[in-house]
Amino acid sequence: MYKSRKAQIQELFDGSPSFRLKQIDRASFDTNIAVWSEVSTLPLDMRSKLEEHVPWMSVKKHSLYQSKNEDTFKAVLETADKKYFETVLMANSKGQWTICVSSQIGCAMRCNFCATGTMGLKRSMGADEIIDQYRFWKGFLLEHPDFPQRISNVVFMGMGEPLANYENVKEAIHTWLDYTDIGPTKIVVSTVGILPQLKKLLSDPDWPPVRIAISLHSADQKKREEIVPTTVPEFIKRLAQWSHEYQSTLGNRMHHLTFEYTLIDGVNDTEELAHELGQYVKKTAVTKVNVIPLNPVSGKKYTRSGKERVERFKEILRGYDIDVTQRKTMGDDINAACGQLALKSE
Ligand code: SF4
Repeated sequence: MYKSRKAQIQELFDGSPSFRLKQIDRASFDTNIAVWSEVSTLPLDMRSKLEEHVPWMSVKKHSLYQSKNEDTFKAVLETADKKYFETVLMANSKGQWTICVSSQIGCAMRCNFCATGTMGLKRSMGADEIIDQYRFWKGFLLEHPDFPQRISNVVFMGMGEPLANYENVKEAIHTWLDYTDIGPTKIVVSTVGILPQLKKLLSDPDWPPVRIAISLHSADQKKREEIVPTTVPEFIKRLAQWSHEYQSTLGNRMHHLTFEYTLIDGVNDTEELAHELGQYVKKTAVTKVNVIPLNPVSGKKYTRSGKERVERFKEILRGYDIDVTQRKTMGDDINAACGQLALKSE
């Protein structure tokens, strides 16, 4: 049975002053330390208890893949209860690294184009398993001193729906904000759009000022239901209402909000749907759309839209005065589509 590192530590040191727990957290981000016995800020008895009961890392490497041009690395990690999930390290435009992290083992959202969606949800990940994806890649970079060393960005675009694991995702983000040099606007929580959770974060004073990317995939309710079968009734309409609530509560963070649109050939990339999206976006408080050419998954019927169709789609959106960006596809040669390698490992 899975128990988070935090729960294990709290049980072990019940009644200890809170600064001790902070020292433990801080030590786990110290790249000069690799085992509990080296944490010199802690008394000896605490170190030996940690050595005996708490693993230094909550996850371990199962397999690692690298793209030919060494700009993308993907790892399948194994949890203490022998579950497998993926995490990715990608070179970014600043010559630093972005990590793409998972928040659940599997996913209950069943998006039709996604390998993870076919696994169903096995369980949500503990905060430590999310946090340790950063620590894993930090360790990997230390073993490769020729690579740039800084991880500057984190995106929650790996396996799972982060807002379905709200508290652990929030705790992981706060831990990174406290113990790394990553700022809140360098973290993107990408969600399929769970409306109760989106509402919850509006009134949560602890929700960090990170960016939120909502995976829309279609502004047409029926088409959206076809692509994301867990889409709730009137989602498109209610999402637009939510965006205005976001604007009135967190207006100073408006630029943190983006729609994501995975372009699937012949499914949601027609001119008609581009116009429908353009008109819809104008009715929301969101001004940015990030289009993502699909990473095809073997065994799935969906394929990536051709270049011309992608360009035409973007041009139509720009005609509505929308800020349109396109995500670079990376690591095609290492099965970068989310979930494929974890499925194979299972
Ligand atoms: S795309 Fe994301 S939300 Fe959809 S099934 Fe895959 S992991 Fe879940």
